[in-house]
Amino acid sequence: MNDCLFCGIANGSVEHLLWQNEHAAAFKDIHPKAPIHILIVPKRHVENLDALDDPNLAGQLLLAVREVAHTVGLKGRYRVALNNGRPAGQIIDHLHFHLLGQSAGHDFATTGAESDSL
Ligand code: AMP
Ligand code: ZN
Repeated sequence: MNDCLFCGIANGSVEHLLWQNEHAAAFKDIHPKAPIHILIVPKRHVENLDALDDPNLAGQLLLAVREVAHTVGLKGRYRVALNNGRPAGQIIDHLHFHLLGQSAGHDFATTGAESDSL
């Protein structure tokens, strides 16, 4: 039995998800560091970027990040971050991209939401 938190969310109840396809799922970060802070994860367990050995999945994940950004209205105005390994700030050992942004009418780059610590 896999007790990984993000495996559970990505493959669990649809009401907790903002977006999904066969490869990836997206959900809100529980402690948002920006007005819009979404996590995009592979549905299958991959510990981090160092452990990602499937080029197809790698491409699918990047496309998923972009599609989620566009879906939530962030086209042309978002930041993507990935913490790989404990020293870099990775707390959850399931690969995830942080998608950060702010809705139109606000200048994301001047809100402090560009902080390096996610
Ligand atoms: P990282 O430090 O890159 O591993 O990021 C882990 C992120 O997961 C943090 O931004 C947390 O706020 C977020 N997080 C932790 N638990 C949950 C949860 N149950 N649902 C959504 N986000 C979570
Ligand atoms: Zn997992």
